[in-house]
Amino acid sequence: MKNKAITSRDVDFAKWYDDVVRAAKLATYSSVKGCVIIEPNGYAIWENIQKVLDNMFKETGHRNLYMPLFIPESLLNREKEHVEGFAPEVAWVTHGGSKELEERMCVRPTSETLFCEYYANTIHSYRDLPMLYNQWCNVVRWEKETRPFLRSREFLWQEGHTMHETAREAEAETLQMLNIYKKFFEDYLAIPVIVGKKTEKEKFAGAEYTYTVEALMYNGVSLQSGTSHYFGQKFSIPFDVKFTNRNNELENTYQTSWGVSTRMIGGLIMVHSDDNGLVLPPKIAPRQVVIIPIGTDENVLNKAKDINASLQRSGIISFIDDSEKSPGFKFAEHETNGIPVRIEIGPKDLDAGQVVLARRDTGEKITASLEDSLVGVVQELLDRIQNNLFETARKRRDAQTYTATSMEEVKEIMENHPGFVKAMWCGDEACELKMKEIRGTKSRCIPFEDQQEHISDSCVCCGKKAKTMVIWGIQY
Ligand SMILES: [Zn+2]
Repeated sequence: MKNKAITSRDVDFAKWYDDVVRAAKLATYSSVKGCVIIEPNGYAIWENIQKVLDNMFKETGHRNLYMPLFIPESLLNREKEHVEGFAPEVAWVTHGGSKELEERMCVRPTSETLFCEYYANTIHSYRDLPMLYNQWCNVVRWEKETRPFLRSREFLWQEGHTMHETAREAEAETLQMLNIYKKFFEDYLAIPVIVGKKTEKEKFAGAEYTYTVEALMYNGVSLQSGTSHYFGQKFSIPFDVKFTNRNNELENTYQTSWGVSTRMIGGLIMVHSDDNGLVLPPKIAPRQVVIIPIGTDENVLNKAKDINASLQRSGIISFIDDSEKSPGFKFAEHETNGIPVRIEIGPKDLDAGQVVLARRDTGEKITASLEDSLVGVVQELLDRIQNNLFETARKRRDAQTYTATSMEEVKEIMENHPGFVKAMWCGDEACELKMKEIRGTKSRCIPFEDQQEHISDSCVCCGKKAKTMVIWGIQY
């Protein structure tokens, strides 16, 4: 049964996305232009993301702290490339009450500068290193358009900032965090990602280089989903972050930063959800199982309570919906909200000693005997849903990944059936700009894998000798 409040994703993908966000009550608007309200259903997903990632960060030795929301202009201006990269989208505070500030302050677009100032004051010797800190916070970037979770003036994220004794150590950290993101995307969000390095043109403002995880959405548009930057000493020199090294000499530290944001929720929606609403991988779903007793029979309700208690005892996040709404209404509501498994139990089921389990991902219904361990059946089903979502997304991504050896081919792909395009590149920024003329196609990354695959010897754009294979795509 098709949800009438949701436009079909094959008819109008942008409208479908907005409809799912609204129908599943993930986010809404207020009078604050450019910003969204993340509603409880959406925020619960963010809380789960935080929980899992925060553990992964702590297991690798990182600690959380909190930095001020404001950055004085003089501090932001200290690294030239950085300030140039962020200047167009920075929001400024000029007054405190009615009094004009002596120095205006920006609302943080990212916190490299604050971390550098702090590190300059706290790092003295190689014994103080590494410093491995992370911050969960909001940032502000003055965007022109608003799409819930994908683009808004204020968004939530985490930003890790680390300082190291050697370049090699900092580079290893950059790679370690990239791999944590990849693992999180694939194992928890069930989103397959391509990992690689950004080109010079697409790297973070002020970084030596940027690694990225790139995902492909249902409609073939790519989403930069997480980045990990290596700074070398590019900030530690202007910010004067120094330490006494093992040879008793003063040296500037080596730095990294890495981040992911609420954008991931947009990615979750655009990879897994369907025309009936939200579909969530069980490992990140705030609620995994809903139990719906049918009718008002006392015995049915008691059985539902027994089942709920035994599921919860084994760590499955379940709940009973015994509200007075009709069963049909409840089915549709929980389907829209993306609860991975629904258990239906009515008087006839009880007499037959069984329950019915419905999968959100495929819609398939399974009858399970109450004689068997229902906990085992549900746990196995949740695992199967998690794997199925990943495999479905991977197969679709692979089917939407093309190779091209000419601009005509790139144009044909991007205009008719967009996706990732593997094509050779000479390394010249002019060719990247030329690519952009085709529906804003950008280099997603120079992937770590598949560089051995022979596509062509010459650049897809200018025909000169190619240096590397690049994955291209149109982006959110
Ligand atoms: Zn070229």
